[in-house]
Amino acid sequence: MPPFDADVIVIGAGAAGLTAARELERSGRRVICLEARDRVGGRILTVHDADTPVPIELGAEFVHGRAPEIWNLGLPLRETEGDFIHLEAPEGAAHRVMDDIERLADEAHDETLLDFLNRRDYTPAERLAAAAFVEGYDAARKERIGVASLAQEFRAAEAIDGDSSFHVIAGYDSLARAIAPSDVRLNSIVEAIEWRRGEVAVGVRDGHVLRAERVVVTIPLGVLQAGAIRFDPEPTQILEAAHALDFGQAFRITFRFDRAFWEDNEKLKGAGFILSNEPVFPTWWTTLPVAAPVITGWSAGPKADPLIGKSKDEIVSMALASLQRITSLPLGRMECAWLHDWQADPFTRGAYSYVPAGALPARRRLAEPVEDTLYFAGEATDLIGYGGTVHGAIASGHRVVKQITGE
Ligand SMILES: Cc1cc2nc3c(=O)[nH]c(=O)nc-3n(C[C@H](O)[C@H](O)[C@H](O)COP(=O)(O)OP(=O)(O)OC[C@H]3O[C@@H](n4cnc5c(N)ncnc54)[C@H](O)[C@@H]3O)c2cc1C
Repeated sequence: MPPFDADVIVIGAGAAGLTAARELERSGRRVICLEARDRVGGRILTVHDADTPVPIELGAEFVHGRAPEIWNLGLPLRETEGDFIHLEAPEGAAHRVMDDIERLADEAHDETLLDFLNRRDYTPAERLAAAAFVEGYDAARKERIGVASLAQEFRAAEAIDGDSSFHVIAGYDSLARAIAPSDVRLNSIVEAIEWRRGEVAVGVRDGHVLRAERVVVTIPLGVLQAGAIRFDPEPTQILEAAHALDFGQAFRITFRFDRAFWEDNEKLKGAGFILSNEPVFPTWWTTLPVAAPVITGWSAGPKADPLIGKSKDEIVSMALASLQRITSLPLGRMECAWLHDWQADPFTRGAYSYVPAGALPARRRLAEPVEDTLYFAGEATDLIGYGGTVHGAIASGHRVVKQITGE
């Protein structure tokens, strides 16, 4: 038998894979991290543009709350500022529903958000605001997402002051660089994992086969569901769990104009976030407290559907039309538009995961090691209510290291 190339091979150099590889390396293991792209970070993707006063995030942008997984890294963070402008629903319209979910949702009798809303006497405004909030934030569908996972998410967020949000001042990619291990091999598209207890052979598209005692798989849920990596033998439990979860869709677009023209609308002066019922790009945010002519639109869950398969030019036009209606002003001169289509990206195939009604146990099963040899991490394997976030991905990296080292 050829010698092992490493003790552990980690597949994927996003927040989860980088964390796992670095921590395993620190524990004295020989680790190789294989990444399909020509860069690290995965769904963290930052553009640094000399003419724009803030880094442009095309993937994760906010640090939600004060999760130690991120704060302990010591990166300089800046809290977001500005008003929340609700153009349609009255402010706080979703609060009663959210409080009820947190209080009443029960994993043993899980139900969809839609059923939860329909069974209670909420006003139309409360229903609309709650569904819009969840579908936007979780990139989910109200007829699919389970309230048990939402309750877990709300409680976890409360414990870390999750209503506050921060920017990584130097750009989110500085986080990816800060946690990178020493041996990351880029342009390494993993296609096959052959394994038996205590031994794995990882096949890369360029023909290389690398061997190790264990493998940690951190590819996004959408990629796992698509069968992009062939396992021999198949870890049936894991693949069934992956298919029980949903991978949501989201588009974000960032524009730089010649000036912050939206400030000319009295209602939008000082806006941090603008929330509307537009059919696409209903949500927008500015860069406050940094004053810049830069604004970002967000369209997720069902509001991503009309954008799927569209060209960048078409998406730009649809976003500008939404912004025009929202601001009720002639648009300023658009200088730049930045967008990454995560749905069309073969190494992501969507935005982030969420849990359909009744599927919370699937998250736990996805996090269970298979014969002390195959391990799975990444935001979709979150156990604490951090799914779909960078801190959730990092937490899953820490969890997998504990499973391997027993420490
Ligand atoms: C548009 C958008 C906005 C977001 N906004 C926020 C936010 O504001 N705040 C927040 O906390 N979170 C946000 N998120 C979620 C956050 O980005 C993710 O939860 C987190 O980055 C996921 O990390 P990960 O390591 O689990 O997966 P990834 O970062 O996706 O890493 C997986 C890696 O596996 C690689 N890979 C895939 N296939 C293969 C293969 N066959 N072989 C080798 N490598 C492979 C990929 O290239 C990738 O680098 C956002 C996500 C998106 C898409």
